[in-house]
Amino acid sequence: MGLLSLGTPLEWEEAKKYADHVRSHGIKQFLSIYNKLKDRKKDHLLWGDEIEYMVVDYDHENKNARLSLRAFDLINELQKSEIEAATNPDIVVETSWRPEYGRYMLEGTPGAPYGGTLDDLLSVEANMILRRNTVMQYMKEGEFPITITSFPRLGCPGEFLTPHYEPTGLATRSMFVPDEVINPHARFPTLTANIRKRRQAKVAINMPIFHDTNTPKPFIDPTIPHDRDVFPEDKEAGEGAALPDHIYMDSMCFGMGCSCLQITFQACNIDEARKLYDHLATVGPIMLALTAAAPVYRGYLADVDCRWNVIAQSVDDRTREERGLEPLNNSKFVIPKSRYDSIDSYLSTDKLYKPEYNDIPLVIDEDICKELMDNGVDEQLARHVAHLFIRDPLVIFEELLEQDDEVSSDHFENLQSTNWQTMRFKPPPPNSPIGWRVEFRSMEIQITDFENAAFAIFIVLLTRAILSFGLNFYIPISKVDENMKTAHKRAAVLEHKFYFRKHVFQDESHSETNSTVDDEYELMTINEIINGKDDGFPGLIPIVNSYLNSLNVDIETRRTLGRYLDFIKCRADGTLMTAATWIRQFIRTHPDYKHDSHVSQEINYDLIRAIEKINKGELKVPELFGDFL
Ligand code: ADP
Ligand code: MG
Ligand code: MG
Repeated sequence: MGLLSLGTPLEWEEAKKYADHVRSHGIKQFLSIYNKLKDRKKDHLLWGDEIEYMVVDYDHENKNARLSLRAFDLINELQKSEIEAATNPDIVVETSWRPEYGRYMLEGTPGAPYGGTLDDLLSVEANMILRRNTVMQYMKEGEFPITITSFPRLGCPGEFLTPHYEPTGLATRSMFVPDEVINPHARFPTLTANIRKRRQAKVAINMPIFHDTNTPKPFIDPTIPHDRDVFPEDKEAGEGAALPDHIYMDSMCFGMGCSCLQITFQACNIDEARKLYDHLATVGPIMLALTAAAPVYRGYLADVDCRWNVIAQSVDDRTREERGLEPLNNSKFVIPKSRYDSIDSYLSTDKLYKPEYNDIPLVIDEDICKELMDNGVDEQLARHVAHLFIRDPLVIFEELLEQDDEVSSDHFENLQSTNWQTMRFKPPPPNSPIGWRVEFRSMEIQITDFENAAFAIFIVLLTRAILSFGLNFYIPISKVDENMKTAHKRAAVLEHKFYFRKHVFQDESHSETNSTVDDEYELMTINEIINGKDDGFPGLIPIVNSYLNSLNVDIETRRTLGRYLDFIKCRADGTLMTAATWIRQFIRTHPDYKHDSHVSQEINYDLIRAIEKINKGELKVPELFGDFL
């Protein structure tokens, strides 16, 4: 996330009075940017990744790996060169640092975005290694920065944090995690509290438990303190919020405290950004399944392999009326999805797009849509923005209420940056050299820098191939939603099929003009989507390879990039496991595991130690890496 504004955030009762104010100025700010910059052209490909770390701290004596709340305090140190560079242009900033939702988290990005050359791709892994080494310089004895999507024992009884705090915080009111787990900047506790207040209940996250041979049926979690009476919300778990056969979580931290891998690209103009947004949206669920790395929550093995739905439920601020559980009375809309979910509409209107692809109902604010269209925005884009703006702003800083809409985008960004979807379409900030960008947001973070580099580079090359070959990945967006559900299933990468477009090259698509949209796609395995079929779909990696063949690439570069692509090929064809499968296997074969889905402190300790050793090159895991690492 960008630099955080400072000021006094309003509590929900106050903030909600200004929701229309923020929305109406947010739209004016968007219009100002749009009308000034819609014709901006010839921006270059610039791109960057974001890696989220968790700092762990070992208690070797008690065989415990805990999350360290000290991570947040390191930001000042880590940002030194960025801060100095602001006044001294001679300083080269190689790594850039931001705090994240969890106080135990850090987010690292390259110091400046990468450029569009293949040489830039060759520097990605080195920069990720540099970032990890940079954090390591600040680690005390017993601390280590890991890249794991969900920390297995977050919210378990006993010590999962250091220092330890009891779960009695006013912001989250969780029975499992204290407020101290949240980034202490006022924005984050307020965001947490305001989601709860807007929803009029705590968030309720339920992930299906993985039923192992000794897991009771039904599984009723014995660690839920049903008789606790600290907050009125404590009753909710017993009143139906906690589902049987599920792992129940009751705090935003369980979702926003997960780590992921995001990639942002600058397009050469707005139309190219809209095109990339659409075609990459269909790839989102495929990459979620392929990068799956999160099979454990709150000390239990889940029957899902990835984080997405956990985060979706963890920030679901919809009221009962908005969720369709009660007739609309005080709320304006019934809203089918959380603010954190897969995208609801395509954005491009170029010749590949057909209206039938936008086949799920799009809830929009009609007045906002009209205002946008009356001011020159086309219908497709107007509906996109009018959909983001059905939400309320959650955190409003009193000092920032009055803005000059020609120079600030604060109110627009307030809504934009709390619509956490699989893709994000990012308009240029006002008065900046930055162009139209899109962010690819579905991937899970991988254990090693090599893997994160491989997935980042693959997505960048795929964008180049999409643009260079004019590829067409459109399928009805309802099928992308189905793919998102499928992606969560255990071992989805090998055991389930996903909808994907059959003919992705345009000349092939033309021959289908008489066919219907439903003839354009079919169910494929991820292996088929990534590596291709013998007599049909070419496969995304072969397409990327033909793109590389069309360039004049020297042998050494080709070899290095080929290694990343081969690695992804092996993850897709099952030669190598996903992190989720490996973590699951590690737990199920651990001597302390009782085949009851429970991940003990000791198992967690050994798992985190193993992850550390993998990073240090001290442990080889051929099932994850083959000969690649
Ligand atoms: P977020 O919206 O997630 O807060 P940021 O603006 O912090 O994203 O940046 C995310 C990534 O975008 C970083 O890796 C950064 O290097 C990269 N980035 C920054 N400027 C540009 C740009 N002009 N074009 C493309 N990527 C950029
Ligand atoms: Mg982040
Ligand atoms: Mg981001």
